[in-house]
Amino acid sequence: MLILKFGGASLADASGFSRCVSWFEKAGTNPCVFVVSALYGVTNHLLELIRFSEESLAGDLQDGLIHLRNRHFDVIKQMDIDTEDLKRELDLEFLDLKSLLESTCVLAEVSPRARDRILSYGERFSSLMVSMYLMGKGVCARRVLGEEVIVTEARFGNAIPMLIETGREARRVIQPLVEEKILPVVAGFTGRTPNGQTTTLGRGGTDLSASILGSALGAKEVWYLKETDGILSADPKLMPKARLIPRLSYSEMAELSYFGAKVIHPIAMHPLKDSGIEARILNFANLNNLGTVVGKVSDPSPAIKAISPIPGIALVTVEGLGMAGTPGMAGRLFSALARERVNVLMISQASSEQNICLVIHRDEAPVAQRALTEEFSREIFSKEIDGIVFRTDVCVLALVGEGMAGTPGIAGKVFSLMGANGINIILIAQGSSEYNISFVIDRQNMEEALKVLHSELCESCQ
Ligand code: ASP
Ligand code: MG
Repeated sequence: MLILKFGGASLADASGFSRCVSWFEKAGTNPCVFVVSALYGVTNHLLELIRFSEESLAGDLQDGLIHLRNRHFDVIKQMDIDTEDLKRELDLEFLDLKSLLESTCVLAEVSPRARDRILSYGERFSSLMVSMYLMGKGVCARRVLGEEVIVTEARFGNAIPMLIETGREARRVIQPLVEEKILPVVAGFTGRTPNGQTTTLGRGGTDLSASILGSALGAKEVWYLKETDGILSADPKLMPKARLIPRLSYSEMAELSYFGAKVIHPIAMHPLKDSGIEARILNFANLNNLGTVVGKVSDPSPAIKAISPIPGIALVTVEGLGMAGTPGMAGRLFSALARERVNVLMISQASSEQNICLVIHRDEAPVAQRALTEEFSREIFSKEIDGIVFRTDVCVLALVGEGMAGTPGIAGKVFSLMGANGINIILIAQGSSEYNISFVIDRQNMEEALKVLHSELCESCQ
């Protein structure tokens, strides 16, 4: 069995729907399950309607609803099938969404639970459209709602899937369809709590829906149909010589989705890793590409698979004699940031203990600055801490590859290359898994550093 995941960008217009049929044909005799995202832009649109509701902007809400309906009907109008039934069914669901939003608009309040219910309509609509389009094309298909098969904890907005319960439901609902040669078209991103309330899996969550179903159903492979040929060694906009990586391990893929390559949801690999099911990242627009295969083992060389710059960051340095030998300083620092929900990307402290450096997202810098100045006001006053310095003219370069683990000399090579090119390194961090080396340099050196490292480390072993 194959799981095929279609993202919103693939379902932007009617030609995308017809390409879904080609992918079904490409799967040949393999039974498949489709998992679909909302049409391109629709989840953002729903978020906007939620905001209109919260602010009781009834007029904007009505305009937004008309716009959202048109967005879907414009695609339906272009479809080369008889669409009367589809239009009728979509309108019925649309009316449900409308009344939900109208009632929350009266209350000027959207609870987390109502919010997830409203957001689920993007995938409800798209799964209905894909399944009915396929039927119009003579493929025996049936829409399956996320709520029917994905069971999650009751944490709205970012629900954690419950794997055992989901496995049971997925086998109960999907297996019989597959046995009867019916193609299930599952609404991604959504699930339900054990007592039946709709939840969502967080932005980009359809990737996760596909992996969970793949693992629950013991699929042979999960195919993620994306807008690129697979995973590349660098962003081709910055690095024209970026090359396709044929094979990655689950850990490399996970590492890459945290840093840079936003191709796949960061935790989408976890369910597959546990069950050893391979993933393929393929280009939706190109039925014959080989893409990137993600599995247990990766190619031994090159040791560094990909390099991604992380711009938009800020480097924070907390410095002072009072930092050394005083237990609890680091604890207070991170707790103060955690209270404000500031996410820390990198940390470094030298053994002299006189400063702690960390990297955060630049747009969180003002909040972080306030939180830290407040937390350490006494130490700043007594000069135990010299100050808290924020730098935003920097960027992180993250190098990912399993081959670094246990291979001496890779970090040495990276840093000698920087030295030889006059590029100063401000901070270095390497996790003990050794799949990732990240370091901070001046923003103005970013292009140069990327070029040197990519040509020396990624282009040599084609
Ligand atoms: N439609 C949702 C989003 O835009 C889920 C997904 O696309 O995977 O985040
Ligand atoms: Mg999406």
